[in-house]
Amino acid sequence: MSSPVIALSVPDLGPAEAAAAAASVDVVRGGKVDLGAIEQFERGIAEVTGCRYAVALSSGTAALHLALIHLGARPGTVVLTSSMTFAATANAIRYTGAEPVFVDSQASDANVNPHLLLNAADQLLAQGREIAAAVPVDLYGRCADYSVLEPGLRERGIPLLCDAAESLGAAHNGRPAGSFGEAGVFSFNVNKLLTTLGGGMLVSDDEDLVAHARKLATQARENVPWYEHTELGFNYRMTHTSAAIGNAQLARLPELLAARRAIRDGYAGHFADVPSVRILGRDAGDGGDNCWLTSIVVNDPTFDAAAAVAALQAEGIEARQLWKPMHLQPVYADATVVGGELAEDLFARGLNLPSSSVLTDSELDRVVERLTRWLDAQ
Ligand SMILES: *Cc1c(COP(=O)(O)O)cnc(C)c1O
Repeated sequence: MSSPVIALSVPDLGPAEAAAAAASVDVVRGGKVDLGAIEQFERGIAEVTGCRYAVALSSGTAALHLALIHLGARPGTVVLTSSMTFAATANAIRYTGAEPVFVDSQASDANVNPHLLLNAADQLLAQGREIAAAVPVDLYGRCADYSVLEPGLRERGIPLLCDAAESLGAAHNGRPAGSFGEAGVFSFNVNKLLTTLGGGMLVSDDEDLVAHARKLATQARENVPWYEHTELGFNYRMTHTSAAIGNAQLARLPELLAARRAIRDGYAGHFADVPSVRILGRDAGDGGDNCWLTSIVVNDPTFDAAAAVAALQAEGIEARQLWKPMHLQPVYADATVVGGELAEDLFARGLNLPSSSVLTDSELDRVVERLTRWLDAQ
């Protein structure tokens, strides 16, 4: 009999979430839709991120899209982002008609190289291009280098939008993920650290940005008694059942973070005496990650991440290569990339390991045992 598959990242939902979801349905059955759950979830996320406002939305992608529109992304403008990211970041830029410019990673944690990004901004500005925003991504739960990015972008008058989709609960120099620059975006997709089974949040201190996003998310209805629309809107609001699940998850956030951190420490302990294996972002040792996914990079020229994924898959273990860089994606073949070799190398030699908060010690041991056995056989 084969053991069940050890998944990369599954939802950690229990009786509290089930009860919250059921209660939210009872409210509907009673003929009253109580939107209190949404407001409560917005207040809760605002608190965790230290931001004044939060807008609950249908997805992280929707949150990116609305923030970019407000910041002025449109045809003819440029938006700088990391090449090493999930397609959602780049897609949201494309939805606005703006041109994404992809920037290479830094080696330590695969996040965008902040100096390269600022140099690229200077060159674009010198060419007379309008940069609507820069969207650094907090990869796998570790914040981008905002100590360089935030002052550098402010100096150049470029709005900063944090793609914190993967980094709820993380921090950089003591400041919460999502709180840098003009606005931040979170995702509560099923595979994220905290899930509403699909949803997102936009956080900001900017009252105008938040009011505009709320309006755009509800078909941009004007504040008059009839249905009046002067700009193009969307249907991007979060459902109230999702928010109810989110509230139950948020009450467990410390527990969810501690579980992911314990998994990170478990892998780090096992790989401490495997010199070719480096845990991404571990060197800084500042403890600011939320440890959403533990990622390794194998320092061995013969290592082939795709082959490792296939070998682990055959053992019932779901590992995954790091994000395939956007500049290698056929859909973005015509986009500009600044550098890119480092992201390509990370894609070839990097692996995300099973990191669910429900992962057991014996499952973690099995992942390490199968992976080291495969590495030794190479
Ligand atoms: C998950 C994710 C998103 C998109 O969030 P959805 O809620 O799935 O739309 C955006 N950016 C990054 C980096 C992500 O990992």
